[in-house]
Formats: sequence, C-alpha cells, structure tokens
Amino acid sequence: MNKERILVIEDEEDILALIHFNLVKAGFQVECAMTGEEGFTKVREYKPDLVFLDLMLPGIDGLEVCRRLRLAPDTKETPIIMLTAKGEEDDVVQGLELGADDYITKPFSPQILQARARAVLRRRAKPGKTAGSEQPIEIHDLYIHPGRNKVKACGENIELTFSEFQLLYLLACRPGWVFTRTQIVDAIHGEGYAVTDRAVDVQIVGLRKKLGSCGEYIETVRGIGYRFRE
Ligand code: CA
Repeated sequence: MNKERILVIEDEEDILALIHFNLVKAGFQVECAMTGEEGFTKVREYKPDLVFLDLMLPGIDGLEVCRRLRLAPDTKETPIIMLTAKGEEDDVVQGLELGADDYITKPFSPQILQARARAVLRRRAKPGKTAGSEQPIEIHDLYIHPGRNKVKACGENIELTFSEFQLLYLLACRPGWVFTRTQIVDAIHGEGYAVTDRAVDVQIVGLRKKLGSCGEYIETVRGIGYRFRE
C-alpha cells in the first residue's frame, strides 16, 4: 500500500523534527519546508495528501500560504491542518474561513498529531453529506430528516425553528469539523446576511435546550466556534 504523503511547513527546527519523527513513525511519508515560500512551492511539486501548516512563519505567513493554496486549482482541495500557538484564536478563525480543515494548538502530543492527521485524511476520503443534499442523517441518538424538517432525539420528536434546524443539520453533516460563527451564518442564510455572531450563540443555546441530553453533541470550541461530536 502506498504511504500517505504529508508536507510539514514549520520554521522552528525542534518542532519540525518532532513532527517529522512522529509522522514517519506513524507510517506516513513526510517532507518538510521551513518558510511559507518554500512550503507553497513544495505543495505544488510534492503533491501531499495533507499539509501541516504553521501560522507564524517568516516571510509569507501561514494564513497567506493557506489563501494561496485555496486559490490555486491544483491545491484548492489539499487538506490543511494549521499549527497554532495559544492566543492565536483570531488567526484560527481566519484560517478556517479561508478553507483550512482543522488546527492543532502547540504544544501537542504525538497521539493528537497522528489522530488529527488520520481524521482529516479519513474525512477527505469519505466526504460527509453536504447540507442541502436532503439526505436524512442518523448519528448518535439523533435522527435528522432535512426534507421534512424533522428531528428525533432518543426516539422523541423535537420541534425546532427553521434556523435551529438548519444549524443542527449543518453541524451534524460534518461531525468533527469546527465551524466558525461566520461560516455558520453564511451557510444558513447565504453570504452577506447581516446577523451577529451573538445570534449564532443564542441559537445554539436554544437548540441545545430543546435537544435535551443530545444537546451535548454540539460542542463549543472556545474562541473559535462550534462542532458536532464525532
Ligand atoms: Ca513558527
């Protein structure tokens, strides 16, 4: 079986060496780059299955690399996991909105590194249902039928408002993915709809309450947004 290929873009040598060691040990084929420019070039040459991208880089930073990768037709689908430091929540939000798939906050354990790599590669291989495909979803104790706007939690029918339903369906279509508030607003109302981040938080509170014990599947990702439990 061909090994999956990972490119790591990170300027700190110690961290780069640690990531390289752990990913090779986990059975991946790994290539490294130490600047944004080098990383951008290597993605196009090496064509990795996944990119680990540090945000704080000399020269063009991680967010700019992410933006460029998403704009280029040959790299716009390449999965990206951002490597971030504590306190970079605003950059994480921006990165997710630019199309990054996930992020890891430093310092992280080898287990987290490997688990996130596998999770993103798995999700990309089998993309979840996209919102709007009208397919019912069964996950944990929830049954969600978009065509009929119907939800059952632990076998009980739940009455949701239209926007609560849209919100739940969006998150449950892609368990494990973090959505920022802006992404949620855009997905539910179409881009440009003027609604505040606070309104999303209020919807989430209402939705969790109505779902009872199933409400805990909607997880808050502090400083970033929300995700449905995998
Ligand atoms: Ca750095």
